Amino acid sequence: MTFQSEPVTMWFDRRLVLRQSPIQGIGTFTVEAIPAGQLLVLVSGGLVFTSDDWQAGRVRVEAEMYNQETLAENLFVITPKVFNYYINHRCNPNAVDMSRSPNTTQYIAWRDIEAGEEVTTDYGIYGGANIEQCGCQSSLCRGRITPNDWQLPELQQRYRGYFPWRLEQQVYQPLADE
Ligand SMILES: [Zn+2]
Repeated sequence: MTFQSEPVTMWFDRRLVLRQSPIQGIGTFTVEAIPAGQLLVLVSGGLVFTSDDWQAGRVRVEAEMYNQETLAENLFVITPKVFNYYINHRCNPNAVDMSRSPNTTQYIAWRDIEAGEEVTTDYGIYGGANIEQCGCQSSLCRGRITPNDWQLPELQQRYRGYFPWRLEQQVYQPLADE
């Protein structure tokens, strides 16, 4: 699979706003109820580069203003920070990233979301996050979030069919062979 810089397309549900979050910093909140299954945020494309490009100064951006995702080993894509960047972690979330392409982010409501609720996702199923002490205060809180959380059978069961593209095959291939 090869990736190149592509135009950035961003779509956000009109019922989303950015506010101070009790979980961390800025968060994404709803101003009206949103039913399960509805699209919340869709972002695709971005500026693609390698760490060599970065070190050689070929990518001159204000890093603080950009969201970075890993496409492949030593290959990254950045887009300006918007709603997709401000979705906080919660161990009992209400949204999942359903994208099936590494340069796309596609959050949908995983369950019904009430008006005024913060939109959250479980960072544990994306395989990169490290949170020493989770402050989500949900009854399902795991306390500590690690890059290996996606290997927990409990999470594989709960988020079956909603795992990120790059982990889903690893998670469910053994089951398919049974
Ligand atoms: Zn938690």
